[in-house]
Amino acid sequence: MPGHPTWRPETILQHLGEESKTKGAVVPPLFQNSTFVFDTWDEFTAASTHQVGGPYHYSRMTNPTCEIAETKIAALEGTERCKLFVSGMSAITTAILASVRAGSHVVCVDACYGPTKQFVSDYLSKFGVTTTFVVGEDPQEIFDACRPETSLIYLESPTSIVFRMQDLEAIGKFAKERGIATAIDNTYSSPLYQNPAKFGIDYVLHTGSKYLGGHSDLIAGALCCSEEKINEIMVHELPVLGHALPPFPAWLIARSLRTIHLKLRAVCESTAHVANWLSGRPEVDKVFYAGADDHPQKALRDKQMSGFPGLVTFRPRRQDETWLRKMTESTRLFRLGVSWGGHESLIVPLEFQALDWSSKSWLVRLYCGLENPLDLTDDLSQAFNLAGE
Ligand SMILES: *Cc1c(COP(=O)(O)O)cnc(C)c1O
Repeated sequence: MPGHPTWRPETILQHLGEESKTKGAVVPPLFQNSTFVFDTWDEFTAASTHQVGGPYHYSRMTNPTCEIAETKIAALEGTERCKLFVSGMSAITTAILASVRAGSHVVCVDACYGPTKQFVSDYLSKFGVTTTFVVGEDPQEIFDACRPETSLIYLESPTSIVFRMQDLEAIGKFAKERGIATAIDNTYSSPLYQNPAKFGIDYVLHTGSKYLGGHSDLIAGALCCSEEKINEIMVHELPVLGHALPPFPAWLIARSLRTIHLKLRAVCESTAHVANWLSGRPEVDKVFYAGADDHPQKALRDKQMSGFPGLVTFRPRRQDETWLRKMTESTRLFRLGVSWGGHESLIVPLEFQALDWSSKSWLVRLYCGLENPLDLTDDLSQAFNLAGE
């Protein structure tokens, strides 16, 4: 791998993958080209093998601008390779498709991202793939759910609404012994605060619209894994699904990555402030926050993760739609909308039921952006006052 082997994350973000400057330009140019041309038969045929890190051939497969962002993300995650896709869902479904065939069985965390759950349960069932959903907090529950035909354990740790965690090291070890592939949606933690590959997880997935993009101006997904696994995907999934990220959003990602560590530090501080404020409010019945001092999986969390950016969920004491509507329409900085990871704070009401909960609850999830944290709690305070107790 190019770059200096002792570089730390902040330095990787500035320089890795762009050591040689095109015409001296300090920022890499945008390679907005579909195809590449060759002087010789040998060069042309060598490029046609389509390997990540190999010669460029056609931008549906690889592109120099994409490769800059991919190189940085792989180095941060501690995987051999990263490949960018057109959305988080396309990266996720690619890792899953690469790990199943007709008759396979998948063990999947129940509280994972909704469309992921829809893909494994509804879509894959068309091809004879079956799924068992698990709570996932106890690794034994996952081991017990595995069958001889289990080919994939799909994780999301922490989950992005109620922040439940899975024991990555125990699950990684078990799966390796059984020859079962493992994948994790690592979007919440970003490549800065949790690196699942070091615990033996095979596919590490990210959504680019969240922290990697960081400015609410692009859609992308990242898949990080070994060179061997990525080259399998380059042969089987990428050429037929045609869902590699185009160069422009990849260029934006490389630009955004330069400051991701500074932004996430501010976001983490702001989220801790908001979570702490919420826990003292009479309108709030329960706060869900990955960084909570009394998080039920604190020991596991502190082993696996080093930061808790952006998201905090609360269960309002009032569960009626009148209160929820008034509250979520009254915030001025927290705008009503899905997604997270950008500069702006967001609020989203969710009717949620975990596998082990007896009933559904209305929850409100907040994303704390880059505004002043005191303005954020002022905003929530006036909205709570308007909504009433
Ligand atoms: C947003 C999100 C996704 C989906 O990403 P898209 O780019 O919208 O397809 C997947 N997982 C998590 C945890 C997300 O928050």
